[in-house]
Amino acid sequence: MSNRLVEIYDVTLRDGTQGENINFSIHDKIRITEKLDDLGVHYIEGGWPGSNERDEGYFEEVKKLNLKKAKIAAFGSTRRSKVTCDEDANTQALLKAETPVVTIVGKSWDFHVTDALKISLDENFNLVYDSIEYLKKRVDKVFFDAEHFFDGYKNNSEYSLAVLKRAFEAGVDTVILCDTNGGSMPWEIEDIISDVNKKLDNPNLGIHTHNDGEVGVANSLYAIRCGACQVQGTMNGYGERCGNANLSSIIPNIKLKLGYDCISDEELKKLYSVSHFIHELTNLSPLKGNAYIGESAFAHKGGIHVSAVMKNPDTYEHIKPETIGNRRRVLISDLSGRSNIVYKAQELGIDLDTKDKRILDILKELKVLENQGYEFEGADASFELLVRKTLGLYEKQFHIISTRTIVEKRKDDEEPISEVTVEVQVDGQTEYTVATGNGPVSAIDNALRKALEKFFPVLDTVKLLDFRVRVVSSSKGTDSVVRVLVDSSDGVDDWSTVGVSENIVEASWKALADSIDYKLLKDNIKLKD
Ligand SMILES: [Zn+2]
Repeated sequence: MSNRLVEIYDVTLRDGTQGENINFSIHDKIRITEKLDDLGVHYIEGGWPGSNERDEGYFEEVKKLNLKKAKIAAFGSTRRSKVTCDEDANTQALLKAETPVVTIVGKSWDFHVTDALKISLDENFNLVYDSIEYLKKRVDKVFFDAEHFFDGYKNNSEYSLAVLKRAFEAGVDTVILCDTNGGSMPWEIEDIISDVNKKLDNPNLGIHTHNDGEVGVANSLYAIRCGACQVQGTMNGYGERCGNANLSSIIPNIKLKLGYDCISDEELKKLYSVSHFIHELTNLSPLKGNAYIGESAFAHKGGIHVSAVMKNPDTYEHIKPETIGNRRRVLISDLSGRSNIVYKAQELGIDLDTKDKRILDILKELKVLENQGYEFEGADASFELLVRKTLGLYEKQFHIISTRTIVEKRKDDEEPISEVTVEVQVDGQTEYTVATGNGPVSAIDNALRKALEKFFPVLDTVKLLDFRVRVVSSSKGTDSVVRVLVDSSDGVDDWSTVGVSENIVEASWKALADSIDYKLLKDNIKLKD
């Protein structure tokens, strides 16, 4: 690795929150700050003090943290025209945030100066110069975001360059060239930065890009190759419109592809968990296909791929997933080959030879079930039961003989009551139980465990964590079936099971019965022992 250091400047908490459906409370922002510090980023832009109460509250709270490495930055703009920095409320709010770093954004496209700010080109020079000079006397570091720099440069390079010159004359630490509209292409970024480097004698430059041309990450990398010493972006690429440049991809690319220093190898291993932690707080659907940190980033489905990966992962993986804290997954589906089954079985601690004829039985069973609407990707426990049953490695400990589920609503303004009756048979003995629950799934769960606890007291520890219902179309085409995924826990392990039926209650029974089955299997509990 070369000694060259590229500093990571995270804008998830400011630019990232401009993204649709991205909302972080002050508490969320503080937790994210701690995680980003753990990840080893150099700067965290906390927000725009003076623009809203939430950001002001954040800067109050963040002072109490003991951060290991990251420096907090407050973001604002150059002073307004016609007032001094002392009189400018925005500038004063930046200082009140008491951060070691202040980043201000200013105009570097002449068209924006004359048509948006409606001031003279010279007056804009003064805004930039005064604001930087004033802040630099009062905080450790001042960064200047040159807004619309690349678009400005394409229209009037002389003016855009002159703005940068003023910023450096005023004592700015780094000027960040912004592709604010996100429409520039990598080759344009390369040409323009090379030109700036020549004309300004290799100044301290940073890069801030957006993803409107789907090249936010590429643009950042090109800028870094041209010498940029700071890169700005958001985790998971959140941001306005199509998002900001995605740090979850930029960071591993800097380390593993460009070979430059940014965060340590140990810190890089936290990339997956930090990225997913932040994503959890957004409540958006899971990150699947994202590069590096997506759950599918190292998931192999095709039988030929799996067979090769088992011999040597380099055959279908560009990096080792553990480097960034992700993991290799082998998916089981009707596209699976023998290797997928062998790999999964190994994960479950079952030694299977690729030539074992029983693998075909498992594949056959899988295909039948998938046709019915089953999916085992999110239901490892059900998959393990299927494999063990087919291999004759599991004996069912209980049988459900009959069930009745009643959902009754007695009054219009009352919540419905769910009641379940179940008859189970264990070792020749029959047991009847009735139980209620706040919904049919929890009533079934209560009834089943109550009936079986007499025989298997260990079920007392099992709890239903969550369940999800999906409508899937079966191969029959016309009738929809539902797939119920159940997450259970015994306080030590969590596991997921699946049930499919045209009837939601029946699908729930199957998933919950699998959950109990799995618990007994996991703890190696057999009644006859
Ligand atoms: Zn931006």
